Amino acid sequence: MKILVINCGSSSLKYQLIDMERETVTAKGLCERIGIEGSKLTHKVPDREDVVIETPMPDHSVAVKLVFNELTGEHGVVGSVDEIDAIGHRVLHGANKFTQSCVVTPEVKKVIRECFDLGPLHNPANLMGIEACEKVVPGKKNIAVFDTTFGMSLPEKAYYYAIPTEYYEKYGIRRYGFHGTSHAYVSGETIRFGKLDPEKARVIVCHLGNGASISASIGGKAIDTSMGLTPLEGLIMGTRSGDVDGAVIQFIANHEHKTADEVLNILNKKSGILGMSGVSSDFRDVEKAAAEGNHMAKVALEAFRYRVAKYIGAYAAAMNGVDAISFTAGVGENDKNARKRIVEEYLGYLGAKIDDERNNVRGEERLISSDDSRVKIFLIPTNEELAIARDTKRLVLG
Ligand code: ADP
Repeated sequence: MKILVINCGSSSLKYQLIDMERETVTAKGLCERIGIEGSKLTHKVPDREDVVIETPMPDHSVAVKLVFNELTGEHGVVGSVDEIDAIGHRVLHGANKFTQSCVVTPEVKKVIRECFDLGPLHNPANLMGIEACEKVVPGKKNIAVFDTTFGMSLPEKAYYYAIPTEYYEKYGIRRYGFHGTSHAYVSGETIRFGKLDPEKARVIVCHLGNGASISASIGGKAIDTSMGLTPLEGLIMGTRSGDVDGAVIQFIANHEHKTADEVLNILNKKSGILGMSGVSSDFRDVEKAAAEGNHMAKVALEAFRYRVAKYIGAYAAAMNGVDAISFTAGVGENDKNARKRIVEEYLGYLGAKIDDERNNVRGEERLISSDDSRVKIFLIPTNEELAIARDTKRLVLG
């Protein structure tokens, strides 16, 4: 069985064709600058040279057509479209309408459209991707995999904001959580790889990348997660502030003569380690600047680790203990120093101990705590595409 996984942005389309027998990537690629001058498709097949096609892509349908041409054409990886069993789409927001992935129907599309307000940057693009596939390969099964379904198991005490309930009732304002596909995958892998109790294991997943979030789950079911109504809440990220006092928005708006939208744009795009350091949103650049003596770069990284540790503490309390902590995503998978410092500076009280030799690793599934650590600590590379493909396969097989 072969599943095509599609992740659409407003001007981009990422794809992977996954062979489900071996769970390996047959081909993958990226369409960039869709609808803008200079559109480009980069198509990669393992052990072959990359194919780069520069041709106008006025909309997502043209991009999808080009992707299928590459997959099935003269140098394609499948004989025909029929060999692709289904398409799994990443969809950002499903509000509280979807507790699991589902086959796309007109009703499902209607809900994705109703959630445009909640995911204004992603949901319209996600729907465009789905409709482009419906147009280019009619009859092919499309599956929607929502980033928000993982957060649907949160108890009321974790998802309600302490604001008048009418706003939940009228607009669905609550904590949803994002990176759900990653958290579900990594918590599941932690239980499998760590041979933990599949029903009772209390796992904290630290998804630390440019976007960063942290989740607490018991037996793979989320009980809390750091992102909220939107991905702004929680940890300090590359460009997002994470938690701030809501009054900051009003204060900046009043003093800088900006609208709420403009201030939110600052909190989403110009804050985080970029805003604090003034150097970059890339952790590697900020680390370099800190090593060269840039004080605010150093503070930004300290604040980032401190916030992660505070959430770990909160989630250990929420679950009355923690059996495993897993690190994933760009920083979590590649930055051994960040992992070591979070554990050594803040998690001693949990009896968590890192093993330097085991921790000297990048992007590989591995136990990185010492044998006498009371909490198991893992590095588990995330694989959102595979998680989407697995869900798609499950739904196709019924
Ligand atoms: P996203 O998917 O949210 O865009 P990623 O999970 O790919 O982000 O993470 C990107 C971040 O990971 C970048 O800020 C990058 O600096 C950081 N990163 C990658 N490798 C390293 C490393 N060796 N040390 C520190 N940070 C790293």
